[in-house]
Amino acid sequence: MIVALSGGVGGAKLALGLSRIMPPENLLVVVNTGDDFEHLGLSISPDIDTVAYTLAGLANREVGWGRHDETWSFMETMDALGGETWFRLGDRDIALHVERTRRLKSGENLSSVTADLCRRMGVGPRVLPMTDDPVRTRLLTNQGWLDFQEYFVHQRCEPVVSELQFQGAGAAKAHPDFLAALADASLEAVVICPSNPFISVEPILAIPGVRAALIASKAPIIAVSPIIAGRAVKGPTAKMMTELGLDATAGTVAERYNDLLDGYVIDNADMSEVVSIDARVTLAQTLMTTLEDRESLARIVLDAAAVLRRRELRGLRHRTAQ
Ligand code: GDP
Repeated sequence: MIVALSGGVGGAKLALGLSRIMPPENLLVVVNTGDDFEHLGLSISPDIDTVAYTLAGLANREVGWGRHDETWSFMETMDALGGETWFRLGDRDIALHVERTRRLKSGENLSSVTADLCRRMGVGPRVLPMTDDPVRTRLLTNQGWLDFQEYFVHQRCEPVVSELQFQGAGAAKAHPDFLAALADASLEAVVICPSNPFISVEPILAIPGVRAALIASKAPIIAVSPIIAGRAVKGPTAKMMTELGLDATAGTVAERYNDLLDGYVIDNADMSEVVSIDARVTLAQTLMTTLEDRESLARIVLDAAAVLRRRELRGLRHRTAQ
């Protein structure tokens, strides 16, 4: 079994690669829900949906959100009626939000709704929200505190970020199946996908007990850098790092995960950083453009995890905190 921690686009790409080179039912993708919000009366879970659509082969790969087979009658009509259109919702996508909202309102939890909708969409791996409790990422910016989607979509990540907050994380319970997987003796690796550390991975790590369960896990923890040659492939990761006073490098991301990492996969372009990284580093082509790129990076990650497991058997484990 493999556990992958994921945000949206970058995480979903690697999760898809993993799902194609291993029995998909042995892959548990634990997804950030800090981006979730309520909009037009609907409960929207952007990262869960990106992962689910990607694994179901339904994702729109050009824009990185929504479905590829979309129509836009709802948005056009909303616009004509003077309604809110800054958060784009395609007609088919809306069906998912309406159904999720109805089921949440009837008392079902997010993980059970997600599992059922994923099954119906033909998703092989298990997609699990990090928690069934509400966690909401907020950002302190030069315009004050902003809700995540206000910053990310409405204001196109333009405000300057100085602080992040994961509202509700302190009281949230990590999903018990997530914690159980980390404690499972058959777990072969925890993969921290190339997702934004600040808004995708750290909300997961902020839930009480998650860091401790990762550290206690017998499986190697291996991350893939979302930064390639000082730049993010997509989104505000590098911009945010600069605004937070950090160098936008693969090494800085490794430092964010400090005591967790056994292995770290960085791009060939970042070879000069190897010496400064406190984990076993693998160099690879980490830009996932094609399906083959996703599969070969996934293979490199699982191979690196296998090496780490062998080292562990020989008492050479890297991670010191246990
Ligand atoms: P979001 O929730 O949709 O913003 O998605 P994530 O947090 O999962 O992904 C955003 C991050 O993925 C950014 O930092 C990107 O640099 C990274 N990313 C996207 N595509 C790739 C890729 O092909 N390779 C690598 N290494 N990182 C990628």
